[in-house]
This record gives sequence, C-alpha cells and structure tokens, in this order.
Amino acid sequence: MRTIVVSGGSSGIGRATALRFARAGDRVISLDVTEPPRPSGSDGELSWIHCDVADWTAVDDALARVHRDHGLDVVIANAGISVRHGVLDITEEAARRVVDVNLLGTLGLWRSAARLMTGGRGGSGDGSGSGSGKGGGGGVLLATASVNGRRGYPYYADYNATKAGVIALTQTFALELSPDIRVACVSPGAVLTPMQLAEYTDAMLDDVNARIPAGRHASPEEIAAAFHYLASPEAAFLTGQELVIDGGETAGATTAE
Ligand code: NAD
Repeated sequence: MRTIVVSGGSSGIGRATALRFARAGDRVISLDVTEPPRPSGSDGELSWIHCDVADWTAVDDALARVHRDHGLDVVIANAGISVRHGVLDITEEAARRVVDVNLLGTLGLWRSAARLMTGGRGGSGDGSGSGSGKGGGGGVLLATASVNGRRGYPYYADYNATKAGVIALTQTFALELSPDIRVACVSPGAVLTPMQLAEYTDAMLDDVNARIPAGRHASPEEIAAAFHYLASPEAAFLTGQELVIDGGETAGATTAE
C-alpha cells in the first residue's frame, strides 16, 4: 500500500484527489487547516492532520510522523488560497499570506518530503513512485499550479505570481532530485470548487465558460485523474513538467481576428 500526502485535502481538488487515491487502495493523509467531511465506508483509508502549510515546522513535524508510521511515497502540494483584488488595492498582509500558503507552502512541503524520501542524501530509486518510501528513492512530488501562472489574469496578481513560482519550483526540484524523485505539477484552468464558487457570481461563471473551448469548468475529479496518472509507474519517464488541463482555454484565441 502506498502512502500519499495531499495538502488541502478537505475540499475541492484536494478532496477529489484524496478520494481517488484512497478508493484505488492507497493510504491517504490530508494536511489541512479545515476538518474534512466524515469519510464513508467506501472511501478507503483516509485520515487528516491539522497543519497550516505556511508553517514549515508544523509541516516537518507532520511529514516526519507520517514517514515514521507508514513511509512516504507521493506528496501533493495542493493547498492554495486566492484573493480577488486589483493591483492598486493589494495589501501587504493579504499578498504575504497568498505567497506564504501557495508558493512557500509548496516549497516547504516538498523540501521536507524530499529530505525524508532521500534519507537526506538522495537514493537510488527508479522514479516510478513505487519505492519503499523509507529513504530509498522512488518518491513523487506533485503540486497544483494553475494556468494563471502562465499568462496574466486580472485581479489576481499575487496569486498568479505564486503559480508561476510553483511551475519554476517543479523544474528546479526535478533537476536537483532526479533520478531519485520525480516532480510534476498540474495546471488546471477553471475548476468548479468552493474556491471558485466563493468568488464568482453565476454571471461571472457563465462568462468564464464562454471563453473555454470546452464550454464548461472542469470537475475536481478530472484534475484528480491527472494526479493519479502522474503518481503512477506509467509516468515513470515524466519529470520537471507541467500538465495543463484547461479545456483548451490557453491553446490560443477562440475567435478569428
Ligand atoms: P478549495 O478552497 O476548495 O480547497 C482548498 C483547500 O486548501 C481547503 O480545504 C483549505 O482548507 C485548504 N487550505 C487553505 N489554506 C491552507 C493552509 N494554509 N494550510 C493547509 N490547508 C490549507 O480550493 P480548490 O479550488 O480545490 O483549490 C485547490 C488548489 O487548486 C489551489 O492550489 C488552487 O490555487 C488550485 N487551482 C484551483 C482552480 C479552480 O478553478 N478552482 C484553478 C487552478 C488552480
């Protein structure tokens, strides 16, 4: 049984991802500041550790506990927050929190996981994600970036910058940690989750759908399926890359000029 850690596993994409792995037979531990919904009998082996990913000491402690008790095979840095604000109105406090959670939260979680997966010195795994999880290599680090890290998107300047940073972290972690650990991120376009519903009115959601060639938002389960593939031995030759799942939104212009 593999051990999978997902940050932000209580809601939205993280919740769908946790359920996808657990139902497939993996042990899944969510690190989140919010308690998850109570699991049902068919959800598989799911548990929760209260952890703010912006707190690197708390992250180190949580992962050390998981590693000691179960080993550690796959870590998915998914927790994220966004605040809608124009560049003239951004406050230092709000922007620092977005950076602390989305960007430094990914860096700290991955750093901690990589130390444990390599025994602090690198291992000799095949990068398939099927390693022992006890420092012998073979671990996988994944993250949720965003198409907002690849192009401008109004009113989310700080958020967009953090997601560009997650894509950069993916490349650099892969270069430093190959071949012991594989690293990849998923960049979703618009996904119908509580994060999206909290900030968008129905009219705004319709407007977004009109800009997406697929004509709709993704479901959280469609992003979870990508993580499941990236963590599998079938992705053993894939590292340092971003997988974009956006219904064609960033493929190009949707109308001829
Ligand atoms: P969501 O709000 O439904 O879930 C986010 C989860 O992260 C929540 O359970 C929340 O409690 C947790 N969380 C927030 N801050 C945390 C912290 N400091 N420490 C630990 N956990 C924390 O949001 P979602 O839409 O599922 O977003 C998940 C990820 O997907 C985020 O990184 C987000 O930026 C990214 N994303 C979302 C969309 C979208 O359209 N929804 C698109 C692209 C990328």
